Amino acid sequence: MHIKFFGAAGEVTGSRHYLEGEIKGKKFCFMIDYGMFQGGRDATDKNVESLPFNPADLDFVILTHAHIDHSGLLPRLCAEGFKGTIYCTKATQELLKILLLDSAHIQETDFARADRKNNLGKWRGDLPTVLYTVKQATECLGQLKAYEYGQVFEPIPGIEAHFRNAGHILGSAIAVIDVEQDDKKKRIVSSGDLGMFNRPLMPDPDLIESADVLLVESTYGDRLHRTLQATEDELVEVITETMKHGGNIVMPAFAVGRVQEILLILIGLVRFGRLPHLNIWVDSPMATAATHLTEKYFEDLDNEAQGNFSWFKENHNAIDLKFVADVEESKALNRIKGGAIIISASGMCEAGRIVHHLAWNLPHSQNAIIITGFQAMGTLGRRLVDKATVVKVMGKEVSVKASVHTIGGLSAHADQAGLIKWLKGFKEAPEKVFVIHGESHASTNFAEVIKQELHWANVVTPQKGDLFPC
Ligand SMILES: [Zn+2]
Repeated sequence: MHIKFFGAAGEVTGSRHYLEGEIKGKKFCFMIDYGMFQGGRDATDKNVESLPFNPADLDFVILTHAHIDHSGLLPRLCAEGFKGTIYCTKATQELLKILLLDSAHIQETDFARADRKNNLGKWRGDLPTVLYTVKQATECLGQLKAYEYGQVFEPIPGIEAHFRNAGHILGSAIAVIDVEQDDKKKRIVSSGDLGMFNRPLMPDPDLIESADVLLVESTYGDRLHRTLQATEDELVEVITETMKHGGNIVMPAFAVGRVQEILLILIGLVRFGRLPHLNIWVDSPMATAATHLTEKYFEDLDNEAQGNFSWFKENHNAIDLKFVADVEESKALNRIKGGAIIISASGMCEAGRIVHHLAWNLPHSQNAIIITGFQAMGTLGRRLVDKATVVKVMGKEVSVKASVHTIGGLSAHADQAGLIKWLKGFKEAPEKVFVIHGESHASTNFAEVIKQELHWANVVTPQKGDLFPC
C-alpha cells in the first residue's frame, strides 16, 4: 500500500490524501478528504491542477468533516468523472448542503460580477476561476452516504471503516479505516481536525487505541492556546471598553462552528452577569443556517452548551440577538455608529459580508475587531493579525484605526498539549506517523515533540506530492 499527499502537507489547507494498494490481487485506490486550497497567491493554481490519476478510477472518498479545506473540491472531483460514494457523518452531510452550494454560488457570482466589469473595460487581470457550478455541487451531494459515529461500513470488499467523534465542529470525525493486507488488517487512522478538550461547544475528541498508519493534524502543533478563562476575560475587557467608548465590535468568524461557539460564550457571559445586555447581529446566511442545524443536533453538543442554550431560550430578552436575512438589512448595519456586535463571515475576511463591515468599521478608532480563528497566510485576516496599518479591502486602501485583538483561545483546533493528550490514547506507537495540516514550522516542531515526549520513532512531515509505502 502507498499513501500520497496532495495537500495539507507543509500547509494547512487543501487536505487530500490518496491511498492505493491491492487486496487479494485486486487494485484499489481512495481518498481521505478532498479539500480546497485557501489563501495565498497560488491557491487557485493548486485548486485547478489535475492530479496524476483518473477520478473515474477512484473507488470511494472518506470525508472527515464539512469544512471547505477538507471538502471543497469534491464537486470538481465528481464533475471530472468520480462516480463513487463519498462517506461522511449525518451532520456533515447536512452541513455540506449549506457549504458546497454556498461555495459554488460565491464562485459563480464572483465570476459574473468580474465578467460584467470586464465587458465594460473596468476589470484588470484574470477573471476569477469557477471551480464548479451550483449544478455540479448539487450533483455531488447525491454521491454522499452518511453513517453514525461508530457504525462500521464496507466501501469495498476488504476495507472496513468507521467514524469517531473528533470534537472539532458538528459532524466532525476521525476516520478509522481497516484494510486487509496479507491476511492481516492494517489500520489507517486519520485524525481529521481535532477539537480542544474541555471546551464549551463540542464534546472531547474520542481517543483511539491503535493505528498502524496515523495521519495527525498539527495546525497548532507548535503552541498552546490561552485557557478558556483567559479568553473570556479578554472578551469581557474588549467588549466592555469598546462599548464604553461608543464603538462597534466586528468579529469575523467561521460560519460553521465558530459563530455558534462565540454565541454560546457570549450567552454564558451574560447569563453569569459578566456582560450586560448585548445587541448582537449575526450577518451571514450560512452562519444562520448552521446555527439552526446546531439546534437540531443539540444532543451532540457538550453539556455546558446545552445548559447555556436552554437558559437563553427561557431568558431571550437578556440578549437582543438578530439573524440578518437580506442584503439591505446587512447594509443597514453600516449606519450603526456604536454599541453593536456584528458577527459575520468569511472567517478569514476574504469574501462575504464581513468585508463590507470591515471597510466601514476599520477606519474608526473607537471600534474593535476581534479575530477569533486561524488566519492563513495571504488573507486579509492575517494582515490584520500582523498589525498592518493599511489594508486593501475590495480593491480600495483602508486605514486600520480600529483596535485589532486576536483571541487565540477560541480555536476549534487542539493545541500542542491537546494533540499530545490525544496521541497518548494510542496504546502503542503506530508504525508510521504523518504529521500534516500545519504550516511547516508547526508540523516540524510538533513532529519533534512527538519523538521526544512519546518516543515514537517513525514520524514524518510530508510535503505536497510526497509518496510513501505504508
Ligand atoms: Zn476543520
